[in-house]
Amino acid sequence: MELRPRDGRKVGIYACGPTVYGRIHVGNARPFVVFSLLARFLAHEGYQPTLVANITDINDKIYDAARPAGRPSGELAAEMTAHYLADTERLGLGRPDHEPQATLMVDEIVALIGELIERDHAYVAAGDVYFRVRSLPEYGALSHRDIDQMDQGEGVDGASRKDDPLDFALWKARKPTEDAWWDAPWGEGRPGWHIECSAMAEATLGSPFEIHGGGNDLVFPHHENEAAQTLAARGHQLAQIWMHNGMLELGGKMSKSVGNVRGLAEVLDEVGRDTLIWFFCEGHYRQPLAFTPEKLGDATRRVERIRDAGRRLAAGASPEALASHRDTFFDALADDYNTPRALAAMAEWIREANRAGAAVGSEHLREMLAVLGLENLLESDADVPSEALALAERRTAARAARDFLEADRLRDELRSRGWEVRDGPDGPELVPLGP
Ligand SMILES: [Zn+2]
Repeated sequence: MELRPRDGRKVGIYACGPTVYGRIHVGNARPFVVFSLLARFLAHEGYQPTLVANITDINDKIYDAARPAGRPSGELAAEMTAHYLADTERLGLGRPDHEPQATLMVDEIVALIGELIERDHAYVAAGDVYFRVRSLPEYGALSHRDIDQMDQGEGVDGASRKDDPLDFALWKARKPTEDAWWDAPWGEGRPGWHIECSAMAEATLGSPFEIHGGGNDLVFPHHENEAAQTLAARGHQLAQIWMHNGMLELGGKMSKSVGNVRGLAEVLDEVGRDTLIWFFCEGHYRQPLAFTPEKLGDATRRVERIRDAGRRLAAGASPEALASHRDTFFDALADDYNTPRALAAMAEWIREANRAGAAVGSEHLREMLAVLGLENLLESDADVPSEALALAERRTAARAARDFLEADRLRDELRSRGWEVRDGPDGPELVPLGP
């Protein structure tokens, strides 16, 4: 699969984001990191990437989580959206260019459903709207499934209203147990999950856009249905290239239903963002990745080696003799975004730089680290003002005393002075906040 942008060097990337019914776990951070870094790499290669990561704030899971808690579903979704933004902010990779929320795109979603009804790919049944799967011969092309293995996962909900069990919901009529609904020409209710993404992707990137990403647990039915909706409504593909990341495994796939979940915030408290990003880069994005203390420890040691190497390097241009390793690094990323091979090339560069005896210029290493969001590993603490260092030390003490309220207050104070605290294995590190 070759990247062939529609328009010059512009590359649209849409990565399916979280459904905001709880705090995100470290597994949810994998696509956030992979596609943020992919956008950095494409920018390095002279492309102009636009990264979109949606926020699904209309979903069954949100109603289901809010109800027993006795809370309005919209309030829960807003709280978890704020947590998601704060937790991912701590990764220090910046924000996606657009983060559309389903609640703010209902008009676009309703218009797309209307188009599908108009073209007879969808039908209204007692206030619900269903996509007629057998109306689209291409259905199944993305996930390569037999039509008999296509369980839409909608259970008994709406089963009696479907013309065909294969059909899936685009719109669900308002239920008495649901406290949030929207208007549509076919009645009050709310959109299904799949149509939200088709509409949000199209509204932000147009179609067919260049790269669609997300976890490989979304291939069926979510992505198959996204692709079907756009193809049926527009007569062309939703996306040119699909990139699916493997799951994070912690004794089996990490999922809330299995109960082996580790919160992103908790993991960041423990190992810091440098280690976590390095850990993600050690696996090829398509492959499952085992989340174990050994692997995190290994990532921590490797990050430390980069810091050490950085201290021995001089500022400025690197010797031409080392350029081949830098080139191998970028070639590996250009070949289906192979980060493990890229890290191996970086290790070679460092080995040779160490062997060179005299201090070698750091430019190549800085260039490689920057596309991984880890250029801070070459920065020393020397330029941090002493009052910021003092605040950071007080925060460390507060954390040691398990006074997390005070620790958070100090983190906010540091932030207001322009410093982000990142917790690494060798203690917290202060990184200047971007503009
Ligand atoms: Zn999606």
